Amino acid sequence: MAISDEIAVELLGVNKWYGEFHVLRDINLTVRRGERIVICGPSGSGKSTMIRCINRLEEHQKGTITVDGIELTNDLKKIDEVRREVGMVFQHFNLFPHLTILENCTLAPIWVRKTPKKKAEEVAMHYLSRVKIPEQAHKYPGQLSGGQQQRVAIARSLCMSPKIMLFDEPTSALDPEMIKEVLDVMVGLAEEGMTMLCVTHEMGFARQVANRVIFMDAGQIVEQNEPEAFFTNPEHERTKLFLSQIL
Ligand code: ADP
Ligand code: MG
Repeated sequence: MAISDEIAVELLGVNKWYGEFHVLRDINLTVRRGERIVICGPSGSGKSTMIRCINRLEEHQKGTITVDGIELTNDLKKIDEVRREVGMVFQHFNLFPHLTILENCTLAPIWVRKTPKKKAEEVAMHYLSRVKIPEQAHKYPGQLSGGQQQRVAIARSLCMSPKIMLFDEPTSALDPEMIKEVLDVMVGLAEEGMTMLCVTHEMGFARQVANRVIFMDAGQIVEQNEPEAFFTNPEHERTKLFLSQIL
C-alpha cells in the first residue's frame, strides 16, 4: 500500500477565521487508517470547528485538508464525495423528528447512495440491532431517550458505510446513566478498526480506545501523545491546568 493510501485525514497548515477571529491556527494533523484519536481542550478552543472542517461543514481559508485522498476545495462534487465517506455524530443527535427511526436510517442510503428501499431497510435493521434498539425502528425520535437517540444517530451514520467517523461530544448532552450505552457502541466501533476522531472529555474512553490524545487550546494543537503518557505526564502548563480541572 502506498503511504498516501494509509492516510485517512491530513490537515497541513490549516487556518480559519470567523470574520476577524482567528479560530484555527496552523493546524497540522495526520490521521492514519484505523487510528482512534480523542480531541480535548477547553470550551471555545476550536475543537468543533476543526472536525467540522474535515467534512466541510465549515470552510478553512488557508492550508490544505485531504480526506481519503481527496483535497477539500470549493469543488462541490469532491465535497459530496468526502461526505459520503465521513460519518458525523453531533452532541444534539440531529435526527429528523418527523421521520421514524428506520426512515432516519434509510433516508441517505436511498437518496444519496441510490440503495433500493428494501435493501436500505435491511442494512438499517442490521445497524439498529448492533446498537441494540431494533425494537424502536418504527417509533419517532421524540419517543426515545437521549441515549437511544444518540445510538440511532450512530447507526444512521453507519448505514452509509463510512470510512471515517467524526464524533463531536456525543455524550455531553446525555444524562449520566445513558453515557455508557453510547460509549459502549463507540468502543465496539473502535475495536472493529474504524478510523475515529472523537471530541470528548470522557477520559476513561480515551484511555480505553484512543491511540492518541490531542489537546487543543486557543485554536492550536498544543500537545499530543498516546493516552498513558498524555494523562500521567502532560508536558505543557495549559494541558496540566486543563487536566487538573476535568480529572
Ligand atoms: P469548541 O468546540 O472547542 O468549544 P468551537 O470550534 O465551537 O470550539 O469554537 C471556537 C471559537 O469560535 C469560539 O470562540 C466560538 O465562539 C467561535 N465560533 C464558533 N462558531 C462560530 C461562528 N459560526 N461564527 C463566529 N464565531 C464562531
Ligand atoms: Mg464544540
